[in-house]
Amino acid sequence: MTKRKTRNIVQRALSQLELGDHPGLSSIQSWIEAKNGRPIVIGELSTLRGNDICGFWFLHDGVDYVLHAPLNSSWHRQYVILHEFAHLILGHRCTPTSQLMVDLPGFPGGPIQVLGRTSFEDEDEAATELLAGLLMERVSRSQDLPADPAGFSKVFG
Ligand SMILES: [Zn+2]
Repeated sequence: MTKRKTRNIVQRALSQLELGDHPGLSSIQSWIEAKNGRPIVIGELSTLRGNDICGFWFLHDGVDYVLHAPLNSSWHRQYVILHEFAHLILGHRCTPTSQLMVDLPGFPGGPIQVLGRTSFEDEDEAATELLAGLLMERVSRSQDLPADPAGFSKVFG
């Protein structure tokens, strides 16, 4: 997929979002829940190590779970959640690059396939990062936070 195609996909997704004047995690979450007709549960998973995988999303029993590693910075936590939200907005499903998680505490039924932050060269990941960055910008603007303290847009823009 070309960069232009990726941008078109993200722009289309963004234009369908109705987030109001003050977009935040909860308004984006509500929009996705209404679109998919499923609740989203966000949680911290203490066994997740932030140095290899920061967050992931999976569907279990009619609920979309977005789990993230314990993160010190609320900005980082927000970004990781928005990344997973971006996957949901773009309608991604488990792909060959999905990781296989086993023994997820509280979720019986053996291995669960999830979408994680596996490769930034993956096409879906590129679109997801772009959308997450744009969402972060909107949320930051409405919260009056610095939009890009880590310089993500330099890397993924
Ligand atoms: Zn991802």
